[in-house]
Amino acid sequence: MAKKRKSGGRSKGSSGKSGTVQCSKCGRIIPSDKAKKYTKRVSSVDPQLARELRKQGSYIPVRTITQYYCISCAVHTGKVQIRQASERRSKGRR
Ligand SMILES: [Zn+2]
Repeated sequence: MAKKRKSGGRSKGSSGKSGTVQCSKCGRIIPSDKAKKYTKRVSSVDPQLARELRKQGSYIPVRTITQYYCISCAVHTGKVQIRQASERRSKGRR
């Protein structure tokens, strides 16, 4: 059968099995080297209120959330775009 990508869409190279992670959207179990990882900083305080508080010199804690997406969800949510074979190797914009 024809092979779409030499790597199979993965980044593990010649090493054997990689660990698994769960997709944050659909819950599918996916290999960690195939998953798309996104980190975002989330504040529990409303941004407008946070600005006011920061002006008065208070410290607002910001949590970092790490999310993993399976390929189907990453494409569906627009995190990655389907690209032509010639464009596929470039990093492009994320
Ligand atoms: Zn998913």
